Amino acid sequence: MDIRQQQHVNERDYVLFPWSVQSKVNPINIVKGEGIYFWDDKGNRYMDFASQLVNLNIGFNHPKVIKAIKEQAEKLCYIAPSFGNEARAKLAKKIVEITPSNISKCFFTTSGADANENAIKIARFFTGKQKIIARYRSYHGATFGAISVSGDPRRFAAEPALNGIIRVLDPYCYRCPFDKEYPQCHIECAEHVREIIQFENPDSIAAMIIEPITGSNGIFIPPVEYMKRIREICDEYGILLIADEVMTGFGRTGEWFGVNLYGIEPDIMTMAKGCNSGYVPLGIVAVSSKIAEYFEDKMLYCGLTYSGHPLACAAALATIEAYEEEGIIENARAMGNLLTEYLKKIKMNHICVGDVRNAGLFGCIELVKDRKTKEPLCPWNGSSAIMDRIKEELWNEGLYLYIRWNYIFLAPPLIINQQQLEEGMKLVDEKLHMVD
Ligand code: PLP
Repeated sequence: MDIRQQQHVNERDYVLFPWSVQSKVNPINIVKGEGIYFWDDKGNRYMDFASQLVNLNIGFNHPKVIKAIKEQAEKLCYIAPSFGNEARAKLAKKIVEITPSNISKCFFTTSGADANENAIKIARFFTGKQKIIARYRSYHGATFGAISVSGDPRRFAAEPALNGIIRVLDPYCYRCPFDKEYPQCHIECAEHVREIIQFENPDSIAAMIIEPITGSNGIFIPPVEYMKRIREICDEYGILLIADEVMTGFGRTGEWFGVNLYGIEPDIMTMAKGCNSGYVPLGIVAVSSKIAEYFEDKMLYCGLTYSGHPLACAAALATIEAYEEEGIIENARAMGNLLTEYLKKIKMNHICVGDVRNAGLFGCIELVKDRKTKEPLCPWNGSSAIMDRIKEELWNEGLYLYIRWNYIFLAPPLIINQQQLEEGMKLVDEKLHMVD
């Protein structure tokens, strides 16, 4: 072997790391993963309470999915998207079967961000209108169009971004932007959307994009009436509803999709992450039959070299089979119910906990300085030394989770069992004493 290949490569010398000040990057080399655990090159084992980036729903190295990828690679590694592709055909049929009944066709992309990019384009072509409504506390991806419709501060660096984005306030019940309480609020946050639509001219608005449950901005679980009202308002003004199911899809909330919790049918659904647990990059834009029919005699000006990549589609088919055969979504629901109980106890045990919330295995602990005033432990878009220390101590004890601002997220792989969930939650409980 060439001696140069044997030398350890310092990745920092060659790689630009995402979302990082490069000089501060000090990556831990991960060499192995299995189930809900992964190992670094020093042999330390970590339990994954974040499913990496909330994508690894079936855990690391699921044998069925690895086998499907290998078999597909031996048959056909790549084919241009204009050709027929059996893996893509079967996957599209499966997606249509598991999504709401109005959904009839899929366009394939390579990530959640470009699924949202294409959803925006499709909404504009279909409606002939341009503006997009999005919420402030939302994230839809890092590419130009997707970051433009995100309200998340990650957009700041890319601004001024796309024109025609209208932002509205969020259904964040713990910190209601209208200072009201559910149910006496009469869902003012949805009525606010109606008002903004009127101010902006409904005839200029193509779509509203929402995460059915907000993910990386703090797990906001809107009341059912909110989602139903938003659906009605969109219908009233001829505005398409795009449900970004990139995080909420594929069992994360204990249902196949976030919209299933609300009984609504979006016009467009975008998916990625859990569709194949991220084993091979894949994104999906699923559209209603009305939209699909529209493109029967019109050009769909969308396409990517890797659209419907056979390896990614084969991985997704096998992943969906695993969800079905192994009762993974049922497990997510059962473990989600347990998570609710653990979270209630955590709220009782710690005065630093302002709110806890979860839908299935999509949960969050919100930390405050003072329960009465609800002053956050650290500001929106800010950091705090104590949150960093909690994260570090948990990491040192072998628990990996996602902490952002004053939120501790709980999103383990959907295959987690009761004992593992309890072990992780006990560690979180212990560390919160550092804040009380
Ligand atoms: N939409 C949501 C709701 C997300 O949480 C994310 C990523 O975290 C994206 C879109 C972007 O997905 P990707 O990183 O695959 O482009």
